[in-house]
Amino acid sequence: MKYNENNIFAKILRKEIPCDLIYEDEFVLSFHDINPQKKIHALIIPKGKYVDLDDFSLNASSEEMVGLIKGINIVAKKLGISTEVGKGYRALTNINEDGGQEVPHLHFHLFGGEKVGKMVV
Ligand code: AMP
Repeated sequence: MKYNENNIFAKILRKEIPCDLIYEDEFVLSFHDINPQKKIHALIIPKGKYVDLDDFSLNASSEEMVGLIKGINIVAKKLGISTEVGKGYRALTNINEDGGQEVPHLHFHLFGGEKVGKMVV
């Protein structure tokens, strides 16, 4: 799949539409999901233009990879759901049509704030 500059997360990154911001740095942006599936449902996206995790794995720099992985922990800490405070959460990314991906800009969902239950239904 080719990157589409008009996807909703690209617009959020360009500040063309607002988001409920949690965290931002050089590599990532994180905000609350507009349609939360759990008590806490955050999204974290790389600032680079990657369609999905496969695209990211193949084409992102090592710095971008570290930035995203570290960003997940930073966001979890900010939300009070990290293991450092004895909590936990689920980090999940959907990949392409079979994976149920709707927005074609790589994003991790972070679900928490409660017991999130079975992984796949
Ligand atoms: P996926 O199905 O993995 O592509 O997930 C896309 C997610 O983006 C869904 O959970 C949507 O609720 C969420 N979403 C769509 N538009 C927005 C938006 N403007 N702000 C925050 N989350 C959004």
